[in-house]
Amino acid sequence: MSLLQLKDVSVSIGQVALLDRISLSVAKGEILGLVGESGSGKSLTALAAMGLLPLIGGRITGGAVAFDGKDMAAMTEAQRRSQRGGRIGFVTQNPMTALDPVTRIGAQIDEVSRLHLGLTRAQARARTVDLLTQLRIPEAATVANAWPHQLSGGMKQRIVIAMALAGDPDLIIADEPTTALDVTVQAQIIQILGALVRDRGLALLLITHDMGVVAQLCDRVAVLYAGRLAEEGPTAPIFAAPGHPYTRALIGCIPTEGMAKGTLQGIPGTVPGALTFPPGCRFHPRCPRAQAVCATQTPQGNPACHFPGGADA
Ligand code: SF4
Ligand code: MG
Repeated sequence: MSLLQLKDVSVSIGQVALLDRISLSVAKGEILGLVGESGSGKSLTALAAMGLLPLIGGRITGGAVAFDGKDMAAMTEAQRRSQRGGRIGFVTQNPMTALDPVTRIGAQIDEVSRLHLGLTRAQARARTVDLLTQLRIPEAATVANAWPHQLSGGMKQRIVIAMALAGDPDLIIADEPTTALDVTVQAQIIQILGALVRDRGLALLLITHDMGVVAQLCDRVAVLYAGRLAEEGPTAPIFAAPGHPYTRALIGCIPTEGMAKGTLQGIPGTVPGALTFPPGCRFHPRCPRAQAVCATQTPQGNPACHFPGGADA
């Protein structure tokens, strides 16, 4: 059964429609990779999943988000808040924004388990030290007494992961958790996060622009382009035979070591902004396989393409 389910979710900020009928689900114990270039709508999808759209002035204009079978729209804000941090742990892109610079890191992690699990101060600290150890932080008890600024970027990101795990969640949502880090540290963090999620049988929604990470870690993959789902399904068959030209292009430019962060070489052009989404298939101006129909008719289905599969002409 799916733990998190988005069904035909559309999102607007003000009058601007940004996400168009996104459907995806993450089952217990499953890792779903949500991929696409910057500006595809990945972070917005995560905010919608967590009920956090109001923070950026956004709202759901159609469809529904359900967590553990319950419609999020029917929950009170207090229920949603207790769910975040409790049943859903969030790992942000930039650890600096997630950590309070004037609170020792142990205290920040303790607070999550005290709030969501009702632990005493001593119990919470024991749990924090245990979590840090599982995140392969040496001398965890000492590190718990450190201030955020005393730690490296990679260590800070481990702290953010510890905070996400501290409330004993069923689902972790991680939004490009390693983008701000060096390539070697990136691989380490992804490996640790993946192992922890697997060990605990948690569900993970991993947002990334890196198809290499998806290939390594994810059971399923959902590909977003310009606010629409291009293709979704189990990782292995999609990598073996991508149906959507955009998926194919992303796989064709898996970043290699030393390549600049955040770049996707090999796909000419950029993701259009919401005010300039092209008619028909939004990928048509960049698609090597586009035909006349692509510029006028929106492709439906999975993959969402009028001419799926096969090699590019
Ligand atoms: Fe390319 Fe047409 Fe498929 Fe869009 S619908 S991905 S333009 S072939
Ligand atoms: Mg983003």
